[in-house]
Amino acid sequence: MVGRLAGKNAIITGAAGGIGLETAILFAKEGASVLLADISEPALEKALAKVKQLVPNAPRLETRKSEARRELIQEKPLRLIQKCDVSKESDVQAMIESLDAWGGLDVIFNNAGIMHARDDDAINTPEDIWDLTHNINVKGVWFGCKHAVLALRRNKKTRGSVINTASVVALVGAATPQLAYTASKGAVLALTRELAMVHAREGFRFNSLCPAPLNTPLLQDWLGDDQAKRQRREVHFPMGRFGEAVEQAHAVVFLASDEASFVNGSDFVVDGGMTKAYVTAE
Ligand code: NAD
Repeated sequence: MVGRLAGKNAIITGAAGGIGLETAILFAKEGASVLLADISEPALEKALAKVKQLVPNAPRLETRKSEARRELIQEKPLRLIQKCDVSKESDVQAMIESLDAWGGLDVIFNNAGIMHARDDDAINTPEDIWDLTHNINVKGVWFGCKHAVLALRRNKKTRGSVINTASVVALVGAATPQLAYTASKGAVLALTRELAMVHAREGFRFNSLCPAPLNTPLLQDWLGDDQAKRQRREVHFPMGRFGEAVEQAHAVVFLASDEASFVNGSDFVVDGGMTKAYVTAE
């Protein structure tokens, strides 16, 4: 299969959610072999059904492996979905190592993240919500990066792409506080930048994706029917609308592909101009 990601083995975490699923669909369309990972198995089953429906000819690894590899594959059938709690290192390690039998990881999109309803300002954020948020949003990304580097080295890769989902709240202040979430996304930006420097000479690229607020369940369920809450955010968009998950997914395809071979350590902002705005049009 020809495509911008042809021949690449990719993992997407949070693959059952808004950005993750749209990215999985585009990755498959672009010829990557994708392992969809999420904490929710039923949601993963639904996500996989959607990928299969939209990309019926998604590449199967068997088609481009040697005979010896094929034997191995019969012993260890290809998994297309993987239940994984990214805050547990053993889950992340096992998931990434499972790709070794298939030629090893080339791309990982560390995208799983939460924004908790009880996250608030400095006074009102409960400590357990801070810890939960950081365990998933920061430690989960660290574990994904750590085991990606180990896998890329183990499989003697001369290039690899790691994309970590941060947020525009890591770049601009919001007077609608979610302190634990904001701090966690700042940490993602910082750790990604450092890893980009540390591993650049090995050919491993690390970039952060910074989405603006989107039409995905993560935000839209939280906003619900509250028009005032919604308006409080929408007014800041120069384009007058929230972003769509697929608009993030297109950026991730670019960062994952060899077209982005000189893009490293970037805070890749996909926000419709939101972080560049002073006042917006009426
Ligand atoms: P979403 O809620 O639709 O999807 C998140 C997915 O992550 C869900 O499928 C969920 O089951 C999974 N998940 C949660 N905890 C997990 C864990 N411990 N291990 C593995 N999977 C887990 O959210 P989304 O909008 O697609 O967000 C994806 C990423 O984008 C998140 O990191 C989020 O913080 C970030 N982001 C979202 C927005 C937005 O407005 N939606 C804006 C900026 C950044």
